Amino acid sequence: MAEALAVPLPDHEDATTRHLVRVAGWAVMLIGSVIGLLLMWDEPVQPVRVALNFVAASVGGVALLLARRQRWTQAAHLLVWGVWVSVSLVAARNGGVNGPNLLNYPVLIVLTGWLLGVRATVILVGLTALLFLGFIGADILGVFKPVQAANRMATAVYLAGILSFTAAATLLSRRSYMNRVQEAQRIAASLVASEAALRKLLRAVEQSPESIVITDLDENVEYVNDAFVRRTGYARDEVVGGASASYSSNGLAPAQREGLRATLARGDSWAGEQVNYRKDGQALIESVVVAPIRQPDGSVSHYVELKQDITERKRAADEIHRLAHFDSLTSLPNRSTLMERLQVLRGRGGRPPSTQHALLLLDLDRFTTFNDARGSEMGDRLLCAVALRLSEILPAQSLLVRVAGDEFAVVLHGLGVDVSLAGRHALAFAEKLQTALLRPLRLEGDAQDAQLGASVGITLYPQSASDGAHDALRRAGMALHRAKQAGGGQAAFFEQGMGEVAEQRFRLERELRHAIGAGELRLHLQSQVDVQGQITGAEVLVRWQHPRDGLVPPGVFIPIAEESDLIVSLGDWVLAHACALLAQPAFRERRLRLSVNLSARQFRQAGFVTQVRALLASTGADPRLLTLEVTEGLVIEDFDDTVAKMRELAVLGVDISLDDFGTGYSSLAYLKRLPIQEIKIDRSFVHEAPTNADDGVLVEGILSVARHFGLRVVAEGVETQAQADFLSLRAPDIVYQGYLFGRPEPDTQWLARLVPAEALR
Ligand code: C2E
Ligand code: MG
Ligand code: MG
Repeated sequence: MAEALAVPLPDHEDATTRHLVRVAGWAVMLIGSVIGLLLMWDEPVQPVRVALNFVAASVGGVALLLARRQRWTQAAHLLVWGVWVSVSLVAARNGGVNGPNLLNYPVLIVLTGWLLGVRATVILVGLTALLFLGFIGADILGVFKPVQAANRMATAVYLAGILSFTAAATLLSRRSYMNRVQEAQRIAASLVASEAALRKLLRAVEQSPESIVITDLDENVEYVNDAFVRRTGYARDEVVGGASASYSSNGLAPAQREGLRATLARGDSWAGEQVNYRKDGQALIESVVVAPIRQPDGSVSHYVELKQDITERKRAADEIHRLAHFDSLTSLPNRSTLMERLQVLRGRGGRPPSTQHALLLLDLDRFTTFNDARGSEMGDRLLCAVALRLSEILPAQSLLVRVAGDEFAVVLHGLGVDVSLAGRHALAFAEKLQTALLRPLRLEGDAQDAQLGASVGITLYPQSASDGAHDALRRAGMALHRAKQAGGGQAAFFEQGMGEVAEQRFRLERELRHAIGAGELRLHLQSQVDVQGQITGAEVLVRWQHPRDGLVPPGVFIPIAEESDLIVSLGDWVLAHACALLAQPAFRERRLRLSVNLSARQFRQAGFVTQVRALLASTGADPRLLTLEVTEGLVIEDFDDTVAKMRELAVLGVDISLDDFGTGYSSLAYLKRLPIQEIKIDRSFVHEAPTNADDGVLVEGILSVARHFGLRVVAEGVETQAQADFLSLRAPDIVYQGYLFGRPEPDTQWLARLVPAEALR
């Protein structure tokens, strides 16, 4: 029993137990004390009986005290066993089975059953049975003394108490039982309801038209709905247990996945677009929300991916974009794309333009006539053929659009800051467009080829920080109008002045290209003489004998040639003819030198030295009589390559001269490291040397440095005797070149003057 008391029975500490303990405690305490008091009036008083009733009463009292301290199980045990013991002792005194106290036992058994459960009840029943057996045995053996006359009052209280308590305990138990039944019914009803709700939710998830994927915290798939299976082509078994990255979010870029994980780690939902792939490899564009699933305690147990297929919507949006930005006939971008591009090219307002772009508007000449003659279907085909032809010659990064009807536009990007150069490029490209259209166009379903001229209007863009796309289009439109009015097949600039400059330079470039092949270039020679006035050689200076403009000086066409590869072919021509000249006996016999100017672009050609070697070999010119003049800019740009090439030339025997010395970056430091043999003092220093102290000092400096390095010095632009004297006084071995000794003249004339008889040979 002690063991049973010690066992914690929290199950019994429910509301019914508490009520029963309280009622039983009060009943035992009241009945015990009232009977105890009543028995005290007996004659004679039976002290043991009185004491036993008070003991029973105190059992009730202690049980109530325990109950107050919430020790319900202990209180219940005390009541059951305490009352059983006291009642048994009273019963033993009252004649056992013959006494009135046996009523207690059924009540106690019922109470024990409710309060303490099966085990205690079985024990109680067993003990009671043993007790009853004992009583019966004792009765048979006549052990019990004859029972004293009962105290009727006490008996009445006892019976009333027992009855009341039994009734109270039974009603309490019934109430508890009914409560429980109702509770059970309520729970059952709510279970049914929640199961229905769950089923509804499950069906909603399962049958949702959008994909739903549930993963564990390691992103392994635990559930996919039917839409997912249908949409991706994966079977459910294939996917469940696999990584989301392999099946569900299989198109997510690593950076995007990192972002997603970081968002989920913060406990937030991630939303974004993903391009994932079906099992058959087809792309699937999805709008995806990934959200953590939380348990009631707030912890995250899963993630759910809600995926909406937006492939079609995207496709429709793309189609709308295409329709809005592309011309449906030619598939070229349309006017709105042009405006957008111009807007982008303008960059941020407020800043001066960092580079020029050109907008060219091209309009087919006599397209209306063509349309009327051959029908609009052929007209459409012609427009498509024109679009194709134009796009074939379009440089990278430029834009070709069909603006409207037979009007096309080209945007040329990044033509540089130099406005006149940009204009020239634009004009050259306009001509290219026009030439491209002159080739006959094959039209499907028409035996006759089409050939149409085109007019082009050009403007540069942006012309100021506030220049807008509409302004540019308006300018190009006006230029196009002018070109049309000029009779078609023309290109016109909006900026008339620039048009003229660009047109002139462009024309010059085109004509010069032609001139080289057509033999319009001429070599002029300008003598170089020593201080005694003896000719030591000449500088070769190129001229252009233009059929319309007459003799053009190099200052006009060399800079234009230097902007393109023209300078290379021009330089090659000069060098080849200079070598041929040098091979003439007059040079060889008199040891006369020829100096040839080289442009940096020409010198930097990969095979330049090989070319010089081949030229010398083929013409038979003596390399030791040839001087190549380079400028300091060339040296600066790629020092190592330049020095390497100069060394190779030195090995051939060819001299190198540093032209226009003093005007460039002249660093005396690198002069030491350059394998050159000559410097040419620029004429600007020579002019002022006798009269300007600064220039005089400079020239003296150059002369002393040259002397130190053992370099030959040529003074350019010597025009007066004073200049010549200034120089010869300081450098007796100086070579003069200048109008004082002779102007540049045609090579044949120079030779004829030098050796009249030989020159005629
Ligand atoms: P540069 O090499 O410095 O040529 C000397 C220029 O000074 C020549 O002008 C010459 O006519 C001029 N000159 C000579 N003596 C006097 C003088 O006493 N007073 C004045 N005021 N000028 C004098 P040019 O022939 O007009 O050549 C100009 C530049 O064109 C040359 O300058 C050279 O840089 C370039 N050039 C000429 N021919 C060629 C060539 O074949 N190839 C290359 N790449 N450049 C060339
Ligand atoms: Mg020169
Ligand atoms: Mg010079």
